[in-house]
Amino acid sequence: MKTKNDFMRKAIELSIENIHNGGGPFGAVIVKDGEIIATGVNRVTASCDPTAHAEVSAIRAAASKLGSFNLSGCEIYTSCEPCPMCLGAIYWAHLDKIYYGNNKTDAKNIGFDDSFIYDELELKPENRKLPSKILLHNEAIKAFEEWRDKEDKIEY
Ligand SMILES: [Zn+2]
Repeated sequence: MKTKNDFMRKAIELSIENIHNGGGPFGAVIVKDGEIIATGVNRVTASCDPTAHAEVSAIRAAASKLGSFNLSGCEIYTSCEPCPMCLGAIYWAHLDKIYYGNNKTDAKNIGFDDSFIYDELELKPENRKLPSKILLHNEAIKAFEEWRDKEDKIEY
């Protein structure tokens, strides 16, 4: 029977291996019923994909393997505390629990500082560094009205 420490050690092992494979020092595993069902590593620079964080990569692999967008019943073990994007993805995937090795401060100390995103989230959109403005709302809302009235939709 594998333990929580075994799963975290696997995530850590992936994070170290990934450095030697041209990626960032991040790894994650997703566990269901005591077994690893998917892994992910950071491939941002290797894949030219700014969203290819370890947790997002692991979520994509797990969802594909299970054939479901809902990963409830699964837990994620990640070598570092999730950034806001990954935390959002973890909520959307309905994972049950997060275990992390390094924390945000450890990441910041080696140049991976996501605190500015957390700071931005506290602000109103118009006060953020990233300009954000509503446009064509009365046209965009038509898709939402159609979705609201659609009877055979899959809710998620
Ligand atoms: Zn992330």
